[in-house]
Amino acid sequence: MTKISEGKKLEKELAFSFKNIAKEEPEKLKDAIKFCEGYKEFLNKGKTERECVSYTEKLLKDAGYEPFEPDMSLSAGDKVYYVNRGKGIIASTIGKKALTEGVRFNIAHIDSPRLDLKPNPMYEKEELAYLKTHYYGGIRKYQWATIPLSMHGVVYLKNGEKVELSIGEKESDTRFVITDLLPHLSAKQNERPLKDGIKGEELNIVIGSVPYADDDVKNAYKLMALKLMNEEYGITESDFMRAEIEMVPSVKATDIGFDRSMIGAYGQDDRVCAYTAVMAEIKTKSPEHTTVTVLTDKEEIGSEGNTGMASEFLHHYMEDLCDIFGVKVRNVYRRSTCLSSDVNAAYDPTFSDVFEPANASFINHGPVITKYTGARGKSGSNDASAETMAAVIKIMDDNKVYWQIGELGKVDEGGGGTIALFMGNKDVDTVDVGVPVLAMHAPFEITSKLDVFYTYKAFRAFYK
Ligand code: MN
Ligand code: MN
Repeated sequence: MTKISEGKKLEKELAFSFKNIAKEEPEKLKDAIKFCEGYKEFLNKGKTERECVSYTEKLLKDAGYEPFEPDMSLSAGDKVYYVNRGKGIIASTIGKKALTEGVRFNIAHIDSPRLDLKPNPMYEKEELAYLKTHYYGGIRKYQWATIPLSMHGVVYLKNGEKVELSIGEKESDTRFVITDLLPHLSAKQNERPLKDGIKGEELNIVIGSVPYADDDVKNAYKLMALKLMNEEYGITESDFMRAEIEMVPSVKATDIGFDRSMIGAYGQDDRVCAYTAVMAEIKTKSPEHTTVTVLTDKEEIGSEGNTGMASEFLHHYMEDLCDIFGVKVRNVYRRSTCLSSDVNAAYDPTFSDVFEPANASFINHGPVITKYTGARGKSGSNDASAETMAAVIKIMDDNKVYWQIGELGKVDEGGGGTIALFMGNKDVDTVDVGVPVLAMHAPFEITSKLDVFYTYKAFRAFYK
């Protein structure tokens, strides 16, 4: 028998450290790998917020969800969904308890950093045709050059017809690219600070190199690109002003590592929480509290606009829901709990000096509960209360879900925000929970399959 020293015993009693799931329960990786096949499909099918909504709507319909109508009658176990302008979606399973006992909100965002086309994007310069972009969300611009890009979006033609674009996803599709200098000629560019390695107005997308064969045409390269777009999609130049076109990495979600324990993909912030939230929503059959799962848009640019969480779209849904049950929405909010489900930065051993290891989130330690975000002294943060932390940690522990705590980097190293403050401002107890991500906001982000799986488990427990 090994003798445990007094100190060791005391340490076990009083001290605490988070566990690595891969070390504690390596056999769980099999379940995680299986679960993540559906996640990879979700990522590949949803490269934009609109595509995520379409795919999610299909998943919900297949699971028996009905479109929400304000004049419908609902009872426990019923499942409904509501689409907000094709860019956001809300799904609910009616609980056994009255709404006034509080609902369980789980909110993730499905917009990701990318390059949007400008409203008047086409031009040519010295025998190449181009599209001008305006980046959306926080990107490190130099990361977006010399990678294959695909074009997604919607265009309204003058006659009102809606054209949907998805170019660069199929193997046989053509792709687009932003150029960068060769090392031989980049001596001057190398002197720029990294943030200016590629500047905003240098994020220009090459779309053609063959001119329209007519010497009388001044912009023959641009014209050729227009002609081909017109033949294929019926678009003319002015239609770009009635469009939302997003250039995204054309890479597919793929396994990473010899052990296939990780996923590399574009847009995991925050489609990783969106997928896990939707899967938990679908699997929830007869919850105590009514579930309100929200996939929202515009988080990456501050949640403004009528598809973002700063708007009233969720509030209006809640008012309609409350009307059906004859209760006041304020009596529901103040007793509700919200998981603001968003990713956090995983500790990166290569760039360890921006993290404070005791309060950083780690790959394979499970979903990260982020008490507060913000910058310069928690500014712009929801800062969850001790009561909210206690309630959410209890749900995790009672259901044997691995979890960890995390801050977004060292104090004063930078910072960021989520949608948490908008729910807090509605009088709802809110805390951030999500998956740790390596290389967040890069065209290719990395997550761990165990973390994805245990985030799903956490959301299942929350909806019990
Ligand atoms: Mn996010
Ligand atoms: Mn983000």
